[in-house]
Amino acid sequence: MSNTRRGIPLTRSHVEKIFPKLTPIQIDRIELHGRTRSVQSGEVLLEQGDTSVPFFVVITGEVEIVRPFGAHETLITVHGPGEFTGEVNMLSGRRSLVRARVTKSGKVIELDHQQMFGLVQTDAELSEILMRAFILRRVELLAAGVGDIVFVGSTYSAGTLRIKEFLMRNGHPYSYIDLERDPDVQNLLDSFQISASEIPVLICRGQVVLRNPSNQQIADCLGFNESIDQTHVRDLIIIGAGPSGLASAVYGASEGLDVLMLETSSPGGQAGSSSRIENYLGFPTGISGQDLAGRAYVQAQKFGTDILIAKATRLICDRKPYVVELESGVQISTRTVLIATGAQYRKLPLENLSRFEGAGVYYGATFVEAQLCGGEEVIVVGGGNSAGQAAVFLAQTATHVYMLVRSTGLAASMSRYLIRRIEKSPTITLLPQTEIVDVEGSDQLESVSWRNSQTGQTEKQHISHIFVMTGADPNTRWLDGCIALDDKGFIKTGPELLPETLTAAAWPLTRQPYLLETSLPGVFAVGDVRGGSIKRVASAVGEGSIAISFVHKALQE
Ligand SMILES: Cc1cc2nc3c(=O)[nH]c(=O)nc-3n(C[C@H](O)[C@H](O)[C@H](O)COP(=O)(O)OP(=O)(O)OC[C@H]3O[C@@H](n4cnc5c(N)ncnc54)[C@H](O)[C@@H]3O)c2cc1C
Repeated sequence: MSNTRRGIPLTRSHVEKIFPKLTPIQIDRIELHGRTRSVQSGEVLLEQGDTSVPFFVVITGEVEIVRPFGAHETLITVHGPGEFTGEVNMLSGRRSLVRARVTKSGKVIELDHQQMFGLVQTDAELSEILMRAFILRRVELLAAGVGDIVFVGSTYSAGTLRIKEFLMRNGHPYSYIDLERDPDVQNLLDSFQISASEIPVLICRGQVVLRNPSNQQIADCLGFNESIDQTHVRDLIIIGAGPSGLASAVYGASEGLDVLMLETSSPGGQAGSSSRIENYLGFPTGISGQDLAGRAYVQAQKFGTDILIAKATRLICDRKPYVVELESGVQISTRTVLIATGAQYRKLPLENLSRFEGAGVYYGATFVEAQLCGGEEVIVVGGGNSAGQAAVFLAQTATHVYMLVRSTGLAASMSRYLIRRIEKSPTITLLPQTEIVDVEGSDQLESVSWRNSQTGQTEKQHISHIFVMTGADPNTRWLDGCIALDDKGFIKTGPELLPETLTAAAWPLTRQPYLLETSLPGVFAVGDVRGGSIKRVASAVGEGSIAISFVHKALQE
């Protein structure tokens, strides 16, 4: 599939959806939100790295979009009359990945960031056209690896997988150079004085060089958090951008609340690592967790949610407004708080397992991991739904999937459709009452030993990929005594808060806590982090949206 446009080849045939031509009536409606001005050939309308990204509709003339890198430019596309500039960072407020330059003098309509928000929130028809084009354009940039960073990594380093996932799940395009496969890579490393031991390396806009950076350093370098005001008191801070947090953000922001969402790594949470969610309402053929999260992320931004890539490390709850402290030490005040921090994967009790995390041991089975182990044997540990999904998904690319279950069989809670597929698949072998007892390798996992607890027999196999899918623990340690938790560390809410718990927590109000409210008035908990939650995408989304109606009530008190 290709296109006849000048610029990068497109992976999709729907050129008219990626680069739609607006009708004169639609252009008139856009003009009401901005200003029309003349532009001259050679004029740069937008520079790569600009933090405030205006939106342009070409009336006459031509505007080219290029990706500059050093002295070179890659032509991405050329916009003619009736077409418009922009992609998803129009809504996120993040830095521009590209340069826009006038190549034929003419006229454009220009809208700044706020005017653009006004347009997409009030004009449903244009909102749909623009939103679709922005998302499809970002997909094309991701596919072509056209971004403002070059990423040098190695298939055998855990840091490489982490950064790939972070960039991919944040929808940020990058060019990737693999140290093992690319013969020119040494020249590039030499020119930036980088030694092989400092891999993975990220080069932002050809300037800043980050050696094995943390997710936070990458977010700072790419300016993910730059446009967000961290000083004023918010109506609502949502902590965690999994399905429950994203749903709260969409409902909260669309209902007029001033919402800030914090996410430690990338939007989507656990669901973002799911290869295919087949039981979410409205997607009969399934949807990947990443697609679902990506859409929700854009939707939350469309309604004006600010999203900060940062970790909440403390809730200061002895005063109002409450204060959420970030890892950087920054403190942000808020009238209400919604905790949507989900849960974390349980690890196998093996001493050297962490050495192979990301280099043979994985906690999610997405397209990225499937690519790494295509044509090889893999192990999936666990007997629940996520393990079942991973096994079925990986069986499409792996030569064989061994499913190791500690108990006598698959969990009673596993969906029937998954059980049937596992039983029928010739490439999946179920090994009940079996546990991994040893893992070995140098840089990469090379072999695995497992033991059958009934026979006591141990077997060693040369397998380099283990998918650990054995459940999760709640992310509540950072709350540090502010809120009542159950004996497993999950947050108690609403009817779960018995009179004695409320007395112990010094609940100050005459009313009982609302549904989904914690032992602290105006602080809510939704999704997997909540005691007694169902641990499904739909229930997390449902709770996230319901909680907003109680947030409104708490704000009025
Ligand atoms: C591999 C896999 C497959 C699954 N498949 C399905 C399926 O097919 N169907 C289904 O219904 N369910 C499925 N689930 C379950 C479903 O994904 C979860 O129930 C759902 O994601 C819970 O959403 P949540 O928003 O409550 O929490 P999470 O998805 O866990 O999100 C929590 C978010 O909070 C962030 N966070 C944590 N602590 C902090 C902090 N201190 N500061 C800032 N951010 C923080 C995390 O980074 C994370 O992004 C699957 C789960 C997994 C792991």
